[in-house]
Amino acid sequence: MERLTIMKGDIVKIKADAIVNAANTSLLGGGGVDGAIHRAAGEELLAECEKLGGCATGQAKITKGYHLPAKYIIHAPGPIWRGGSRGEADLLASCYRSCFALAKEYGLSSIAFPSISTGIYRYPVDQASLIALQEITSFLKENPSFQKVIVVCYNDETYKAYKAAFKTLEMGAAAKESKKEEKKEAKQDHKSSKEEKKEEKEEKRKGIKFHAFHLFQGKKKDKNRKKDET
Ligand code: ADP
Repeated sequence: MERLTIMKGDIVKIKADAIVNAANTSLLGGGGVDGAIHRAAGEELLAECEKLGGCATGQAKITKGYHLPAKYIIHAPGPIWRGGSRGEADLLASCYRSCFALAKEYGLSSIAFPSISTGIYRYPVDQASLIALQEITSFLKENPSFQKVIVVCYNDETYKAYKAAFKTLEMGAAAKESKKEEKKEAKQDHKSSKEEKKEEKEEKRKGIKFHAFHLFQGKKKDKNRKKDET
């Protein structure tokens, strides 16, 4: 089973242990996916959210899923795009990490994400998708028992961006792997040439010993011959 799925769809329909809400810091509902989740989950969700006292950007809080097929909702306010030099990338990565920390704390094994920050908050989706998938793939690598992460893209543009980002990361990983192999081979070559040199030295040493032995034997014979003559 593929542990990462990138699909087009509506996140409120996804049956997973948790779906993530690209919320705002008030946690009291809003537009985009936030509005869709509150509508589908029912008003009990707002009642629980009102008790949470908001949530900082880059952090996450968890509630029940109420009328959703998902058991839980993890609310994660993403950063508003302000040009990229206001810590947006770190804050976005932190959103994903905070969601995974809660997923682990609650013993979940499947989670669905929307494309956090790339709607009303205007984060460029080509950059956001790379950050999202980097965080997701490294979490999956570090947590082999976690079953499934689904990225739910609401429109074509988002879906294409995530697919392209996935390819880019895959190519990066493959390049890294082949570099590692090259390094390993070079090390191996270096080692075997060292071993060859050592063997050569050993051969030479043996040769000298052999030569010296015969020289000695020859001299011994000469001596004996001289003795016999006298
Ligand atoms: P943000 O304020 O974090 O930008 P938005 O809800 O405006 O949040 O947008 C985040 C992403 O969620 C966008 O890609 C948007 O198209 C998408 N989106 C909106 N509704 C849904 C939905 N029902 N399911 C999945 N994604 C959705």
